[in-house]
Amino acid sequence: MATRRRVKKRGGNKGLIITILVIVLVIALVVAFVYFKYPDTFQGILDSVYSTNKTENTTSSATGGSGVSSSQNSGVINLAEEDCSVHFIELGNDNAGDCILVKTGNTEVLIDAGSKSNSIDTISAYIDKYCTDGILEYVIVTHGHEDHIACFGGTASAAYRTIFDRYICQTIIDFPLTNSTTALYSRYLAERNAEVEAGAVRYSALECWNNENGAQRTYQLSSTVSLNILYNYYYEHHSSDENNYSVCCLITAGTHNYLLTGDLEKEGEEYLVQCNDLPQVDVFKAGHHGSYSSSTEILLSVIKPQIVVFTAVMGKYEYTTDINNVFPSKTACTNISKYTNNMYVNRYYDSATDTTDSYNGNIVIIANSSGINVICSNKTDSITESDWYKTYRA
Ligand SMILES: [Zn+2]
Repeated sequence: MATRRRVKKRGGNKGLIITILVIVLVIALVVAFVYFKYPDTFQGILDSVYSTNKTENTTSSATGGSGVSSSQNSGVINLAEEDCSVHFIELGNDNAGDCILVKTGNTEVLIDAGSKSNSIDTISAYIDKYCTDGILEYVIVTHGHEDHIACFGGTASAAYRTIFDRYICQTIIDFPLTNSTTALYSRYLAERNAEVEAGAVRYSALECWNNENGAQRTYQLSSTVSLNILYNYYYEHHSSDENNYSVCCLITAGTHNYLLTGDLEKEGEEYLVQCNDLPQVDVFKAGHHGSYSSSTEILLSVIKPQIVVFTAVMGKYEYTTDINNVFPSKTACTNISKYTNNMYVNRYYDSATDTTDSYNGNIVIIANSSGINVICSNKTDSITESDWYKTYRA
């Protein structure tokens, strides 16, 4: 009797078990379909789940919350295959300038190589920590000013080894127009052309935008990371200001965005907003090192940045003796502070000793499926916490 009851019971549950199995199978098929057919959507769902948890975990972070976590690491950062890391490199001298390394998997993009020719060993030592095969898959040169091309053009000395001499640069993307007539710019052209002779391909940013002559508007760096060349009106129109010729790009990593506009000025930013469908961004490299003539409300109101990086020496009288124009400018800081207090800078100037030193140092911003992480080689404080900012910029 007991045996029959058990058999009967199992028979009664059979339909329920099959139903559960079918439901599980259907869910698995739907998940697999979305994963393979719409990887970005899948990533987005994952990100929203993770970011919900992350906000709870990082509200007490040094940068004041907003889902941004920060930490200090002066050594080599351990990067995962899925990470998209953007490194704003401290350039080894007292001058503002750009040199930005983007890395995902084994693909590296170098954007500019300033600030002075003597930055080369600092830059090279940094790149070597993360680029182990000696190949820079993409090199972007935004415009013809020294603080962006110094280490591409080098010096007149035959012994100087430029970025092009030190690395195999596969695809070079640079500015279509320039007013530059400097010796450095001539050396840049010679070095770039020699790299092309050696097998590199070179496109202007306008060719990229137009998808012509083999150039592409979008380069897929991995399954989730893309490099997108944006349209800048001054790729094909004259400007008296060299800065406006800057190559502008958007790096998209899953649902996260980084906007890099070189030294683009106010009028260039207006066209940038008009001519591109710009998203909100996690990270904005403040145009022209935080000049009063960039980071305008018209751009910021569209991109609503969560983190802003100044590639500058905070408080140093570099080009002007007017405190209101010193990088980062009061105008830019005021505009940016409407959107975020997460502001970082490579170095700072100490007026008491007339010397400069690391503020955040090398600033690395990593995007992956668990959110955005800021890692600084020096302290992680936002500049809004500095005495200089409180005195001159707040
Ligand atoms: Zn510059």
